[in-house]
Amino acid sequence: MRSEHVLSQLTVEKFTEKIIKEVKNNTGKTIQDAQDKEIYYAIASIVNEQIIPQWSETNKKYEKINNKQVYYLSLEFLVGSLLESNLLNCGMLDVANQTLQKLGLNAEKIYAKERDAGLGNGGLGRLAACFLDSLASLNYAGHGFGIRYRYGLFEQRIIHGNQIELPDNWLKDLYPWETRREAEAVCIHFRGEVDMLKKNDGNLEFKHKDTDKVMAVPYDIPVVGYQNKVINTLRLWSAEPVGGDQQDSITEEGSKYYQELDHQHSIEQISGFLYPDDSKLEGKELRLKQQYFLVSSSLQTIIKAYKKNNQRSLKYLPEKAVIQINDTHPTLAIPELMRILMDEEHLSWENAWNITTRVIAYTNHTTLSEAFETWPVGMMEYLLPRIYMIIDEINERFCKGIWFDHEVLRDEIPELAIIADEQVHMARLAIVGSFSVNGVAPLHTEILKKQEMKHFYTLFPNRFNNKTNGITHRRWLLKANPKLSELISDVIGPQWIHRPKQLISLVKYSSDAAFLEKIAQVKYENKRILADLIYDRNGIVVDDQSIFDVQVKRLHEYKRQLLKVFHIIYLYNELKLNPNMDITPRTFIFGAKAAPSYHLAKEVIKLINKVASIVNNDSTIRDKLKVVFIENYNVSLAERIIPATDISEQISTAGKEASGTGNMKLMMNGALTVGTLDGANVEIKKAVGDANIFIFGLTADEVLNYYEHGGYSAMDIYNTDDRIRTILDQLNKGFGSDEIEFKDLYYNILYHNDPYFVLKDFEPYLETHEHVERVYRDKLRWLQMNVTNIAYSGKFSSDRTIKEYATEIWKIKQV
Ligand SMILES: *Cc1c(COP(=O)(O)O)cnc(C)c1O
Repeated sequence: MRSEHVLSQLTVEKFTEKIIKEVKNNTGKTIQDAQDKEIYYAIASIVNEQIIPQWSETNKKYEKINNKQVYYLSLEFLVGSLLESNLLNCGMLDVANQTLQKLGLNAEKIYAKERDAGLGNGGLGRLAACFLDSLASLNYAGHGFGIRYRYGLFEQRIIHGNQIELPDNWLKDLYPWETRREAEAVCIHFRGEVDMLKKNDGNLEFKHKDTDKVMAVPYDIPVVGYQNKVINTLRLWSAEPVGGDQQDSITEEGSKYYQELDHQHSIEQISGFLYPDDSKLEGKELRLKQQYFLVSSSLQTIIKAYKKNNQRSLKYLPEKAVIQINDTHPTLAIPELMRILMDEEHLSWENAWNITTRVIAYTNHTTLSEAFETWPVGMMEYLLPRIYMIIDEINERFCKGIWFDHEVLRDEIPELAIIADEQVHMARLAIVGSFSVNGVAPLHTEILKKQEMKHFYTLFPNRFNNKTNGITHRRWLLKANPKLSELISDVIGPQWIHRPKQLISLVKYSSDAAFLEKIAQVKYENKRILADLIYDRNGIVVDDQSIFDVQVKRLHEYKRQLLKVFHIIYLYNELKLNPNMDITPRTFIFGAKAAPSYHLAKEVIKLINKVASIVNNDSTIRDKLKVVFIENYNVSLAERIIPATDISEQISTAGKEASGTGNMKLMMNGALTVGTLDGANVEIKKAVGDANIFIFGLTADEVLNYYEHGGYSAMDIYNTDDRIRTILDQLNKGFGSDEIEFKDLYYNILYHNDPYFVLKDFEPYLETHEHVERVYRDKLRWLQMNVTNIAYSGKFSSDRTIKEYATEIWKIKQV
């Protein structure tokens, strides 16, 4: 049924032959004796055998055509697993599945042997991975640059209800998708001194000397386009000492040897681990090193490639390259490009600036103040002296420009200056040094223009634009939910796979009773699979006929997992008072990692687990409520939870969630959103219509108004609402006989005046869930709503997002 433009035309017979041979060659075993992991590696080799020739074909083609290319710079790529998606994109998945079945092997168990590449925290990192998938699948020449962290995001364990972090040793066994390319290593310079020399022509020349040198060694991962023979590249940099095996460090003095080892270790630390903070700045020097390490290695590579393929001056770089920076983390790309153009390519400041500000484009992901990146001047000057000089000069020129050309903004200079209060303000640098600044959903972009960045918007109105986030429907529907995908293709044909907007054809079937029954059946089967997973991992029996009410995302106060918990405690308290209350059984499912140093977030995890143990073990509740915290939420778990979800909880404080992408994945799998008017929830509501989503709570304007003018008192609500007082007192004093207390959560709400308006939105949230339950009981209507959500989810494919970036920002064409 599927497209003919597949990479591989292997038959089941041929695949069988290859897999037997691979296993034999690698392990000496027969396929019957081989372990799942060994079979995994065998299949990965077969896939690589198909990919690798096509990969160099793609690179040759790009060189020959010599079109403009996009480089996506990101400190995070939350890739997840690759075997099944590479099989799918190569057009080999069906054959692989049939082969394994024929051999009596369990495909799912074998694919599950792959460890997730967890090189990201959450939405921002997963977005980067979805973008690479769309770039390749849409025939764009676009590549990712990131860091090959030795340890990705920590593995989460729950012990006695508390989060424990374990190292994510994802490279312990061979990672079959990466290729080390030592020949393309580059040298990165830290610290040292900058000499200023006057040249004969009167211009200044800068020499950066006595530096600490670090080698950046690339490991390339192929990015396989969907059945189009395009293989792009994700290049991840690894930090190594210069000179490799350090023969020159052998000296007669023993002490030097250990100094050398120490030095080597400190260099390897640069790509040692991913910082585990989401939407929050960790102002450590090592993090700044990581940022410069990524930016310098990537830019050197981009310039080298340009010079190899173009005999023209670097003046024309903007015709051949565009660099998108994912949040401010890679903002040093701006001064680094300036440095290369001036100090190495000998261009003037004016020419270098002209080029730089036509190559760099910046995506903002948050307006949370704790996430705004600043670096102490002293740290930057010491670690990156030449880069700091350039930033200082950019700042001087920028501030002078405001003073002389924009008199109305003179008073705002302290708020606009890139260097202020002894800090370098990265978002300001990113705006000043780029040609495009985009938000990730319309509401978020408006907040940037009207509030957070309003003076910059006055200065550069044309720079600001919106690109609403998206998700790759290939991973999040086709791969994650094969049963639903097959059902969709059965009724509307498979064209939606290439043009996800065509999912809209499903609208015609939204009152077809036979089709709706099949939709219900698919959801039920997915819920049974998840129920089994929950039983295996948590030992909790959940009712697969109950409503699966799901909140999966990083744990953060603004995402308001606490509001969800309050809802559960409320229902529990009601059921205790009235055991015969007529309610539809519900299973509440959470998945969330907290940053290790985020105390309140960890308290919420503990609370969820506490509530779970009380509710799940209370026989008077008679299984009407179940609470499950699935540990170690990651991409692979998301792929199993999302297809089984009935209700998607997207309940952030309005104005705080820039876009959200979990909301899109869930909608695409037919879950109904209970959400605030925040981020892309607003767009989901527009797409499906008010009748097919459950919206509640304060608007972003109302929230802003409270922040600016006051008028909100959490204590008043506590004093007047019995339901809330009961819950908060339970937090303060422990639940019943139990001694565990949650005083910090209690105090944060009552004595820090509930900064995220949990109490304010509590009542409308309850009412909305009562409404949800009434609708759920009308089975036909519920299923229609499911189908409507799937039907209108096509616009949230990252294919749409990438086409917008390509035509409106990057100006690149499909090849
Ligand atoms: C999509 C995704 C996220 C982002 O979820 P939001 O609900 O948008 O915050 C985070 N983590 C993982 C593993 C994801 O797949």
